[in-house]
Amino acid sequence: MNKASNVELYKEATAYSPGGVHTSIRNVDPHLIFTKAEGAYMEDVEGNRFIDYQAAFGPFILGHNYPYVNNKVTETIARTDLFGVGTTDIEIELAKKICQHVPSSEQVLFCNSGSEATYHAIRLARAVTEKRKLIKFQGCYHGWHDYVARNMLSDWDKIGKRDPGSNGMLDEAVDNTLVCTFNDLQHVEETLIENNDEVAAIIVEPIPHNIGCILPEDGFLSGLKELCSKYGALLIFDEVITGFRHDIGGFQKIAGITPDLTTLGKAMANGYPMAAIAGKREYMSRFNTNPGGDVWFAGTYNGHAVGTAASLATIEMLENEPVHDHIFRLGDRMRKGIKEIHEVLGIDAFVAGFGSVWTTYFMNFRPKNYSDLQHNDGELYVRYRKKLIEKGIFKMPMNMKRNHISFSHTDREIDVTLEAMEDVLRELF
Ligand code: PMP
Repeated sequence: MNKASNVELYKEATAYSPGGVHTSIRNVDPHLIFTKAEGAYMEDVEGNRFIDYQAAFGPFILGHNYPYVNNKVTETIARTDLFGVGTTDIEIELAKKICQHVPSSEQVLFCNSGSEATYHAIRLARAVTEKRKLIKFQGCYHGWHDYVARNMLSDWDKIGKRDPGSNGMLDEAVDNTLVCTFNDLQHVEETLIENNDEVAAIIVEPIPHNIGCILPEDGFLSGLKELCSKYGALLIFDEVITGFRHDIGGFQKIAGITPDLTTLGKAMANGYPMAAIAGKREYMSRFNTNPGGDVWFAGTYNGHAVGTAASLATIEMLENEPVHDHIFRLGDRMRKGIKEIHEVLGIDAFVAGFGSVWTTYFMNFRPKNYSDLQHNDGELYVRYRKKLIEKGIFKMPMNMKRNHISFSHTDREIDVTLEAMEDVLRELF
């Protein structure tokens, strides 16, 4: 029997599904058909093995198919699943843990994806403040829904302009979402003043990882908090990527800034579908899970045993094992190693990152917002990554995408990766 090939199977996939993939940004060249994943590795149908830094856009903090998580999931679903009424012992246990660890979480509700979490957070902020507008930041991503799907990876000439992410979005939703520049408090304050008394919330990725790794400057996040108090808006930290990955309490714990509401997902369940919205009891109690609550919150699969058990297992690992020490140490090693290669080869690039996340921008200064990234050589960025894929190192071959290290990566994978990077960079420069 002929071995199946990536090319043939991708062709077949496109016959049954538009573009052959099930979320827009998965459609990249090369079109690989994955069949196996374990620890730091993934494998395609042709038997090619890759060290994985894509981590499925971030959930894999422990590594693929992590036994402790899988075992807890299978043990749990052997006795329980989904009820559609009441609550479960494990939902209570998980809610308690999140409230114990995440500073802004006085209460928490579960859903299935980050987009659902941000949708509900924004709806709640509108109900609480009785205002309708939302401020987001250029380049930040908060999910696919109409409230937030604008000015994400805009074309450069669309920065600061009306740039809906999709056809079919409601004009009203697009126009009620205002877009500011990250790390620019003056722009935020001017926008608040121009829209006097109409802004319900500011939503922000505390580190905008959707454009790689742009760090908040000192005073930026605390400044947002002050502006929110001054102008009567709620502050929403979208910690769907940063939550659990950078600290069990999220980036808010590291930054010492407590937002009004927080959205969580991804690393919370190490690859299983699970997300949450958390915040002050005063606000969370407005959800109509609470009798008398006036803000609709629902979902057939919310609190399903699979995601709930996976989250409990992941959080137990973060509580009991030196996960963050390990991934932060390897992250530091990776960034240091890449900088050394750049020095040896005389490459003027900026190695950005935090903890287990990093990216190399091909530009010669530290970017502080999306528009600075115009100076990144995007074409080179993608070519570099494609060549690494040929060498068995998987980083998303798409401009501005970050890389993630998991607890399953070891010094060996870092060594192999640095060696491959040096070879590729020698070819490219
Ligand atoms: N917020 C952030 C910061 C994200 O990165 C993402 C997904 N990349 C989302 C929200 C949406 O999450 P999901 O894809 O699970 O709907």
